[in-house]
Amino acid sequence: MKRIKVIAGNWKMHNDNSAAQQLASQIKIRTTDIKKTDIILCPPFTALTVVHDVIKDTRIGLGAQNVYWEKSGAFTGELSADMIKSSGAAYVIVGHSERRQYFGETDETVNKRTKAALEAGLKVILCVGESLDQRESGITANVVEAQVTGGLSGLTSEQMEDIIIAYEPVWAIGTGKVATPEQAQEVHAHIRGLVEKLYNSDVAAALRIQYGGSVKPDNADSLLSQPDIDGALVGGACLKAETFVPIIQSAEKL
Ligand code: PEP
Repeated sequence: MKRIKVIAGNWKMHNDNSAAQQLASQIKIRTTDIKKTDIILCPPFTALTVVHDVIKDTRIGLGAQNVYWEKSGAFTGELSADMIKSSGAAYVIVGHSERRQYFGETDETVNKRTKAALEAGLKVILCVGESLDQRESGITANVVEAQVTGGLSGLTSEQMEDIIIAYEPVWAIGTGKVATPEQAQEVHAHIRGLVEKLYNSDVAAALRIQYGGSVKPDNADSLLSQPDIDGALVGGACLKAETFVPIIQSAEKL
């Protein structure tokens, strides 16, 4: 099965509304010839509607960077899946390593957020990945298995159609140290094998698994051409159209 490549930009806590409007406009102008690859922009919550206004008549998708699992109530500072949807977003990133590391995210809360997002009709980019210590101790496969199994717990095969998994080794995020294509491919194949065990071969074959961690224009080709790498979740390089768009173009020509 040929899976459509998906390139997502995680803007993290960058860009006020004016900068967001400019960046989205530049990406829009430079991607008019992209016909196959899915593109997703994930600005901060405050810029979702601004970016939505810029891209609404294009095939560029919009995503948020987190979601809370309750529908409404006294949860100061949180946003529900319906609120995110009403901003025009169709996707949400869940379980990013920065959320796990700095904000106490666990596989259980990742799972609650994932379920709430899916129930509201959002698609989820579920992030997993091992730390440097874990890789050096030889437990990468176990760590990633636990994160994938925990994050997907209770989801049906049908719901899996709205899941993208992003494999992001923590040691490669924002460090300039990129996993080799072979290292990334090995973990991606492992995740696909696990999903086949948890569901079936059709679900596993259809699942898109992105690599994330210091993806740049000069390493995108070699990563994206691996058989189980279906796209990229990009941090630093997505903050400029000059570095984000070439990554999209790498995916488009495959
Ligand atoms: C990320 O934060 O998801 C990420 C992959 O960041 P970077 O590309 O900067 O490593």
